[in-house]
Amino acid sequence: MNAKGQRENFIDIMAGFTVYTGKYLPDDVHAKLKELREKEDSALATIVYDAMFEDLRLAHELERPLCQDTGVIQYFIQVGTGFPLIDQMEECLVEAVKKATVLGPLRHNAVEVFDEKNTGNNVGKRIPWIDWEIVPDNDEATVYVYMAGGGCSLPGIAKVLMPLEGYEGVVKLVFDQITSYGINACPPLLVGIGIAGSVEVAAKLSKKALLRPIGSKNSNPRGAELEARIEEGLNALKIGPGGLTGENSVMGVHIEEAARHPATIAVGLSTGCWAHRRAVIKFNADMDYEIISHKGVVL
Ligand code: SF4
Repeated sequence: MNAKGQRENFIDIMAGFTVYTGKYLPDDVHAKLKELREKEDSALATIVYDAMFEDLRLAHELERPLCQDTGVIQYFIQVGTGFPLIDQMEECLVEAVKKATVLGPLRHNAVEVFDEKNTGNNVGKRIPWIDWEIVPDNDEATVYVYMAGGGCSLPGIAKVLMPLEGYEGVVKLVFDQITSYGINACPPLLVGIGIAGSVEVAAKLSKKALLRPIGSKNSNPRGAELEARIEEGLNALKIGPGGLTGENSVMGVHIEEAARHPATIAVGLSTGCWAHRRAVIKFNADMDYEIISHKGVVL
């Protein structure tokens, strides 16, 4: 395939995959929702979970997005320095979003700041947001698609704590924020926490934490323990599906960290909703692809 053919092929696959992300939850989220549904006894909680699964069934049957909120589309990309389309990734992903918007169809969700104008195609200044990681001596590309809905983005916060607040301050910020804003984000939530030395690093890591598979643990045993304890504490609040009370509050708590300044701890918080539309696809240099997040799926 020549370079032009490769480019068009990549755009078509990414447009189709972006549409697919809006219709089908990844395997891990689907399995976690089933697990949480089985733990519920109350009529209200089971009705809400059943409505979620009915929504997923109808999205499949009617070939429609599983939530009306397209979100703002974000791509987190890990690109090998030898991947043939490395120089064209951004323009290809912009074209993919435009195509996906028509194919989906996806609700138009990109509003230009200051002009207060909806662009009508989910593309705008710096949107789709693209987060780059360059992989040396490699010719593959892995693309995470994330649809950042308005509700699930609402609890997001990042802050540098006062020096004596310590890790207790991290926990306090998470609980304050989830108890005051969490129900706006369509629980059960996936909670992403970033801990670092400055606010922008903590915020970015909190979003990257949401890309990890549910059930995965922080690579440091102390980090994994903090994840488990925060998860246990949030579940004890019994926020339940839709915030209408139930046995649990969250699908998981993920923490990602970077070494911090000796005096300060910065903390970032991002949340994913029950409709956590995060999908992963991997390309080789011939544009053959494998979908990692939804096993066995071919577009
Ligand atoms: S929070 Fe999630 S499920 Fe709720 S409206 Fe937004 S995208 Fe949809």
